[in-house]
Amino acid sequence: MSLGADLTRVAIGLLMGMILPRLPLLFFTRFLILERDIPPHPDPIPISLPLIQRLLLMRRIHLMGWLVAIFPLCLGIMVLKTSPQPFAFGLVAGVAWFALTRLLPLHGGQGFGLLPLSKIKQINNLREPETECCSKSELQWEIRAIRCKNCRDVTMNSPRPDLGRIRSDGRILGSFRILLMDGNSAFPPTDDSVIGQRVELFGKVAEEE
Ligand SMILES: [Zn+2]
Repeated sequence: MSLGADLTRVAIGLLMGMILPRLPLLFFTRFLILERDIPPHPDPIPISLPLIQRLLLMRRIHLMGWLVAIFPLCLGIMVLKTSPQPFAFGLVAGVAWFALTRLLPLHGGQGFGLLPLSKIKQINNLREPETECCSKSELQWEIRAIRCKNCRDVTMNSPRPDLGRIRSDGRILGSFRILLMDGNSAFPPTDDSVIGQRVELFGKVAEEE
């Protein structure tokens, strides 16, 4: 076997190992009709019971990825035990890469996983906040943060993750984005980085004008 063919087999195995565990995220909500209670992508979602239910569902789907990962991992290890197949090596490496990207937090200060229960609880508490930002407080989750629709006050500095809605950028491009970002938001939390601080600054300038 030539080196080129071996490398191709490793690459195909690698891709499969990385993509297979993310399939639940791609298909589970998007191809079932679950859009009744929340507004379509990319509109902001009101902080309400349907959002909390959707967050819990997305958390379950993320955990399901680990179950799906067992299959390519076991297959790869079983094959490698008998013979050093490049495809099986790629498969195991792909699953290992998936595990690493899921386990390492994307941004500092983020809890374990994309949707830690503590965060869902925090958002649930916002349904009945202790202090109202204004007289007509209406909290909603926008792309970058949870803000009040009326006074624009930021209640929680947290970019919105993928919530399983059918994406406005189309099925193919949308699926590709989700595979790349693993359901995370493409934006960093606004106070997390220099870029974030600049974005915030720009936002303030834009609002003042
Ligand atoms: Zn307000």
